[in-house]
Amino acid sequence: MTKSGSAVKVLFVTTELAPFSKVGGLGDVAGSLPKALRQAGVDVRVVTPAWPGVLERVAALGVKTTTVRAKVYAAYDWRIHSANIIKASVDGVTTYFLDAEDYSGSQYPSQLNFWSASPFAVFCMQALELKNAIDWEPDIYHCHDWTSAFLPCALAWHRHYRQTGGKSIMTLHNVAYQGIFEPYPFLEASGLEPWSFNSSTMEFYGQVNLLKGGIVAATAVTTVSPTYANEIQTYESTRELSGILYQQRSKLRGIINGLDVKFWDPNGDKSIPAKFSVKDLRGKAACKKALLERAGFDPNSEAPVIVCVSRLVEQKGFDMVFNAAGQIAETGAKLLILGSGNDWIENGIIQASEAYPQSIKLFRGYDEPLSHLMYAGGDIFLMPSVFEPCGLSQMISMRYGTVPVVREVGGLRDTVFDVDRPEGGNGFTFLTCDVDGMMWALRRAVERYNNNKVQWKEIMLEGMREDFTWDKSAGLYKNLYDELMQ
Ligand code: ADP
Repeated sequence: MTKSGSAVKVLFVTTELAPFSKVGGLGDVAGSLPKALRQAGVDVRVVTPAWPGVLERVAALGVKTTTVRAKVYAAYDWRIHSANIIKASVDGVTTYFLDAEDYSGSQYPSQLNFWSASPFAVFCMQALELKNAIDWEPDIYHCHDWTSAFLPCALAWHRHYRQTGGKSIMTLHNVAYQGIFEPYPFLEASGLEPWSFNSSTMEFYGQVNLLKGGIVAATAVTTVSPTYANEIQTYESTRELSGILYQQRSKLRGIINGLDVKFWDPNGDKSIPAKFSVKDLRGKAACKKALLERAGFDPNSEAPVIVCVSRLVEQKGFDMVFNAAGQIAETGAKLLILGSGNDWIENGIIQASEAYPQSIKLFRGYDEPLSHLMYAGGDIFLMPSVFEPCGLSQMISMRYGTVPVVREVGGLRDTVFDVDRPEGGNGFTFLTCDVDGMMWALRRAVERYNNNKVQWKEIMLEGMREDFTWDKSAGLYKNLYDELMQ
């Protein structure tokens, strides 16, 4: 609530939005949290770039759009950048897709420099200018990760926008990506005051660090789990940035992500061959059969099926997985991995699958329908992350009765609890980040699956019954918005 009693107006500024431009968890959050916030009484709208293919996906999904009569303009790098504003109601949430030349390249650049970072700065300025083109002005700009971190920086240090007095929240979905690049010619081209480039603001060992600037400049900072909020203040987790996060800790809080439980629902999922639920688990066997068949394995195999759906990057711990290939094969389980990412990790898994073709299969790439079949058809979901801000996959797997085996880190620690604790739990966890640690938990899971079907079913049901809705977390975000409006 604002002081006048009206609903607080929040603009979500995001460069990913499921189901139109999702790359990872940020896309899922941006696609589902606004709906929950709206239900909680927040007047929330979303602005996002129309990256290549986005408007086509919007049309293909039957979402109606209109083009706003006015364009949005931003001054950057000595010229005016304009964008068409395509307005849509996505499940009741007003969403603005900004369509411009600036967003015609790939969504995320592989190399960061002034030129490849520019679309993100332009996007933030256009988000700040949006209020001049539509009949609605946000009280709070809610930004996400380095790709929209320029916005709080502009509100604090831009020669024009710092006069406007807007409030901002910076949500950290993954502190590993910070938006670091050479300062020349960014400082002059961006319109930021030259004095904003110093070690207590956005300067970082001689470079620009947009995320650092966003953290310092934002009115409040959140991250996506309470454990990660603590971890990122330590040198082990975020190295040089940890000092800044520690310094800013009074405005930092961890709010766990929820899931779009309607989208991730084994009882309503159109991408899987048979539906199932807490009340009737029978369909899961048909999903397992279909998955085994798809992988080229015997569909009637009774062996436990371990699945992974993930970006194949260092964060996710897949070097442990391919280094343990022999031990995993020895357990008799099948291991199916869906993902793509770094060459050295993909190659490690390919080699493992060639060495153990009866046990290990890699589906290379990004495949949304197959991911649903993996979640539904698996018995065990393996997620041995080195660090994990929140993690959605372990929650999705639990919704689908696939028991998670995870490392006790970040949001995994806040959502998965070991069944061998005196009070019981919903999965298997390990702490030590090495093959022995991972295999200790994975072997316990495989043995339990093989030898104690009654307990296994209880563990599955425990996970399926967890409340992964956004309701509680949306309430915490709403409290934060209300606090900022006091
Ligand atoms: P992160 O955001 O670090 O990638 P999360 O667990 O928070 O990890 O979210 C990952 C999301 O991306 C999940 O919805 C997962 O199903 C999806 N995903 C990851 N890799 C793939 C893939 N190869 N194909 C389909 N979906 C994927």
